Amino acid sequence: MNAISRFKALEREYGHRPVHVDHSNDKSITFYACNVFDQSKMAKYLPESIFKQVKQTMDEGKRIDRQLADHVANAMKLWALQLGVTHYTHWFQPLTDQSAEKHDSFFTLDNGLPVESFDGKVLAQQEPDASSFPNGGIRNTFEARGYTAWDCTSPAFVIGSTLCIPTIFVSYTGEALDYKTPLLRALNAIDKQATAVCRYFLPDTKKVISTLGWEQEYFLIDEALFDARPDLVSCGRTLMGHNSAKNQQLDDHYFGSIPERVVEFMADLEVECHKLGIPVRTRHNEVAPGQFECAPIFEETNLAVDHNMLLMELMMKTARRHNFRILLHEKPFAEVNGSGKHNNWSLAADGKINLLSPGKDHDSNLMFLTFLVNVIKAVYNNSDLLRASIMTAGNEHRLGASEAPPAIISVFLGAHLSKTLALLKEETSNGKILDAAAKRTINLNIEQIPEILLDNTDRNRTSPFAFTGNRFEFRAVGSSANCACPLIVLNTIVAAQLEAFNNELQQSLSAGANRDEAVLKILGNYVAEFSPILFEGNNYSDEWKEEAKRRGLSNITSCPESIKAYTLSSTIKLFESQKVLSERELSARQDIYAENYHKKIHIESLVIANLALNHIIPTAIRYQNLLVENYNCTKGLGFDELIENRLDTIKSISKLILVIKNDVAQMVTERDKACTQSTNLQKALAYNTSVKPFLSSIRSSIDALEMIVDDEMWPLPKYREMLFCH
Ligand code: ADP
Ligand code: MG
Repeated sequence: MNAISRFKALEREYGHRPVHVDHSNDKSITFYACNVFDQSKMAKYLPESIFKQVKQTMDEGKRIDRQLADHVANAMKLWALQLGVTHYTHWFQPLTDQSAEKHDSFFTLDNGLPVESFDGKVLAQQEPDASSFPNGGIRNTFEARGYTAWDCTSPAFVIGSTLCIPTIFVSYTGEALDYKTPLLRALNAIDKQATAVCRYFLPDTKKVISTLGWEQEYFLIDEALFDARPDLVSCGRTLMGHNSAKNQQLDDHYFGSIPERVVEFMADLEVECHKLGIPVRTRHNEVAPGQFECAPIFEETNLAVDHNMLLMELMMKTARRHNFRILLHEKPFAEVNGSGKHNNWSLAADGKINLLSPGKDHDSNLMFLTFLVNVIKAVYNNSDLLRASIMTAGNEHRLGASEAPPAIISVFLGAHLSKTLALLKEETSNGKILDAAAKRTINLNIEQIPEILLDNTDRNRTSPFAFTGNRFEFRAVGSSANCACPLIVLNTIVAAQLEAFNNELQQSLSAGANRDEAVLKILGNYVAEFSPILFEGNNYSDEWKEEAKRRGLSNITSCPESIKAYTLSSTIKLFESQKVLSERELSARQDIYAENYHKKIHIESLVIANLALNHIIPTAIRYQNLLVENYNCTKGLGFDELIENRLDTIKSISKLILVIKNDVAQMVTERDKACTQSTNLQKALAYNTSVKPFLSSIRSSIDALEMIVDDEMWPLPKYREMLFCH
């Protein structure tokens, strides 16, 4: 570990002024999506009849055949060459924390002559040598081939001199090795099931899409200070560091004025995003010092997921131009708020009707209630799975802590809707609803819902899954997550629930019930069933933990325990029924997430041991020597009673050093034991219960030393320096 010294880092940091990138001639509306091969570019570069065919094929979600692909490839090439592009790559999202790419040149030799070549075959499919991507046992090494295949629903784009083509990544045998494949399958499933339900109210519905608007939180830290913290470099979070006297107590950072150096970064980032057609729109300071957020206009989910992946990459690159580093870890600083990525999610029929937005008349409100209640039912039945979709080594620090959504999944509706659902439940149980519905005189108080709900006052910012007027906000997602992970699960469970609802409704209708009566009765029964998951109070409070237990809601704060949900027989049945993931794919995913977890804890334990033994303890001993020297020189000068307490400090340092050494030794023993477990899940469980606790105990001893040792000697940048360096 080659960290630069704290003082050198501070010197460099003080020299870092705002970096101004001149965008005065750039107005977003003139260059928006200039680096995206979207439909307008396609229309320009393709013959009209071919464009029509391609568009129709894409709209119908069908496969583009080889001949059409050749045309598209040619158009793409012409467009890209004009932008100075020399290479192309299939851009995909393996089950790691980042996207992957392998560049090929347009340049080739044709009969010895240099040409620029790119055709439908290379656009549609590639066979990257990808044997070292995580596969959870799906690909044996002798069959290490994986395929990337073009996802024509997400447009190609140019970064630098490379044309990037969004693709799925599957094994030789067709199993998903990435996030995009199951996401596309889940989006198909929700389309199918939601369209069927939608048709009871809007008979002409052709397609239902899932929409996603993420809100990305992040920390910015000066790169010199980052370089001086080996824990940030290797783990993305501080493994030690005493809290600074002032951090977020005064709530003066949230929505405060943005420091100039950060504004320059944000402006630069927004230009980069807009060129790639990422519609970012809002930016502000977040709660913690050094923490910020950016959010786009929502989009169709597959596109929004790609855009979020791209945003995270753009953030890292842009930050470096401004001598910053981005921290996307969910909890980079202890005792300071962590970062999440709220996923705002809804469903839209035929691209325009928001199914989670209350309407103006009886029919549209009944449709709204149908989707709302079915979503909550799906969340209630599958809360463990939903939690598993967002649990990682990083997010584990956030969930269940006192500033982020807890590991207990509950749903917030707001006073008005809660009352509506309570009424529905009551009227169903006393049979009144049948009568009222049949006569169409039912008054569920839903006519004025839109106005009431969109009023910001009715919000609960502690809820992990909150209804916010015309969408649900899944707030427990971690800042570094690939949004596909929660959205695969969310769309799949809702699809399965809508299918079940549809079946029930069909039965009632064939038994002679009228639509409204049947719908309301089923919904009323659902509300009665899921009422334990509705919670309007403070999710961060200890009372809620007690209350949730009484209600029978689960509270799993360990990542390895949580991801067990992926292979329960109920999960397998559900995912197979919606054709999203097979049993083999699910267990491969669980294996990969478990491996990722224990490897991260392993790295953290190596780093903390190294820092403790080679940086902190030697520093503490040096300071202790100074004290001993001082004590010996001062003794006998005539005020011995005044320097007696110096011995206490010397003793405290020795004690802390001893505790740290013992803890490190025990941690190594536990680590060796955990390594011998046979499966990745068992290893993850062992690392969680036996290794992770040492990270906290070693940390607390080091933080105590930080408060004793001379500031001049302390080797690592301190919290107050890192958090207020803008
Ligand atoms: P808040 O902080 O109050 O949650 P923000 O403006 O930060 O509000 O974020 C709201 C997010 O919700 C934006 O990303 C926005 O695009 C998204 N959003 C709004 N309507 C929908 C919808 N129908 N489907 C999905 N996302 C939506
Ligand atoms: Mg927000």
